[in-house]
Amino acid sequence: MFSPITLTQLSQIVAAPLPPQCDTPQDAQVIGITTDTRTLQPGEAFVALRGERFDGHHFVEQALAQGAVCAIVDTDFTAPHPRLPLLTVRDTLTAYQTIARWWREQFSIPIIGVTGSVGKTTTKELIAAVLGTVGNVHKTQANFNNEIGVPKTLLQLTPEHNFAVIEMAMRARGEIALLTQIARPTIGLITNVGTAHIGRLGSEQAIAEAKCELLAEMPKNSVAILNHDNRRLINTAATVWSGETLTYGLEGGDLQGELIDAHTLRVEGIDLPLPLPGYHNASNFLAALAVFKIIQGKDLSPVELYTPIQTGLSVQLPEGRAKRLELPHDIVILDETYNAGLESMIAALKLLKETPGERQIAVLGTMKELGERSLEFHQKVGKTAQELNLDALFILADAEEAAAMATGAKGLPVVEMGKMEVENIHQIMAEKIIEFIQPGDCILFKASHSVQLNRVVDKVQQIL
Ligand code: ATP
Ligand code: MG
Repeated sequence: MFSPITLTQLSQIVAAPLPPQCDTPQDAQVIGITTDTRTLQPGEAFVALRGERFDGHHFVEQALAQGAVCAIVDTDFTAPHPRLPLLTVRDTLTAYQTIARWWREQFSIPIIGVTGSVGKTTTKELIAAVLGTVGNVHKTQANFNNEIGVPKTLLQLTPEHNFAVIEMAMRARGEIALLTQIARPTIGLITNVGTAHIGRLGSEQAIAEAKCELLAEMPKNSVAILNHDNRRLINTAATVWSGETLTYGLEGGDLQGELIDAHTLRVEGIDLPLPLPGYHNASNFLAALAVFKIIQGKDLSPVELYTPIQTGLSVQLPEGRAKRLELPHDIVILDETYNAGLESMIAALKLLKETPGERQIAVLGTMKELGERSLEFHQKVGKTAQELNLDALFILADAEEAAAMATGAKGLPVVEMGKMEVENIHQIMAEKIIEFIQPGDCILFKASHSVQLNRVVDKVQQIL
């Protein structure tokens, strides 16, 4: 819970005076900060954000009627009368971020900022699970990982928390820098740099530089945790960061892990059960162990350090990531329908290959936002499926992308579903898959979110 502050204090934090004729006393208590009248509690301050679909300024009077102690509005807003408790700022989002940063500064706990092209949410969940063995962890919920979500997450910090794990996402340059200035992480972790959003950023190097804004902007006495196995990340990081660093990796690094089998990771001579399957998740787990080592490990032997984790961790990921569904007739579905990019497609295809089953079948869809590299990357995914010698590939993608993927997969049985716009395409696809599959098959479903492959998964489940 946000500790109450007075209206005067809030007006100082956002550098906006209360109107001289304001009816509300200056020592009125502000018990929280909200941007949403649907969840507003009396006594909270309402921040009117302007979004693409909604403008919070339309809800200012409603917020005050619901008991908001004040509203933070911008200079374009015309107060309906001068006695309302309005704090007028140039930009309400900046004010919201300023309050979040101020609130974050009230805590001297480890705050871990997590960014990277893929694996942020997974790694955040793994860090929370590992730290959860020794304390109370606050973490980013759902997708609150952007310029509004990060402040929202920080504003939920309470004195009961021992640690906070903050996911930071970006679509363009400068965004990670801003999130870092707000969250001021004591540990900054970059999982990898890949090609997600390359359509917007232009090149892999530009993506690496954007991710490394985390290092450039975090306090100098913070610690960087970096994936050793990603050379571009390590090289780019070195141009902006010279502070304390711990690298982790399956190929090398300060904290090197070795996959003993599909379920076991050996670290510093200790065997630990992997909470999630696949090589990429072993890497994500190592990242979490690196955080644990920085926070807990200074004076502990590896045996002492890893004891709380040795019995295994239970990690629940949000829908559509690494979800294993066991269906009748020993059919297994790997539901990865939440999203897809080049690296995550390749990681998921490898996971499919490692998953025992009669046959391994991939059902893949378009990867979005890849700009001019789109066809090249779709072809590469097809090629990976072919190199892994999968048993079949179903494709639901934009025409050119589908053709590129099929070209890459030459030699594999490929079923192209045709136009994505066709009515009932998900139903048609589910029926085709059902016709094809046999008892004991393992089927991976993965595509960008907008392809809605989850609908095909649902239909396959219903029919089986
Ligand atoms: P978003 O940008 O959508 O928030 P994210 O970075 O949070 O994504 P996750 O949700 O953790 O990423 O993982 C998305 C998918 O990426 C997973 O389902 C998996 O297929 C793949 N993935 C996860 N970790 C890695 C990794 N370290 N390397 C490659 N692929 C990965
Ligand atoms: Mg995420």
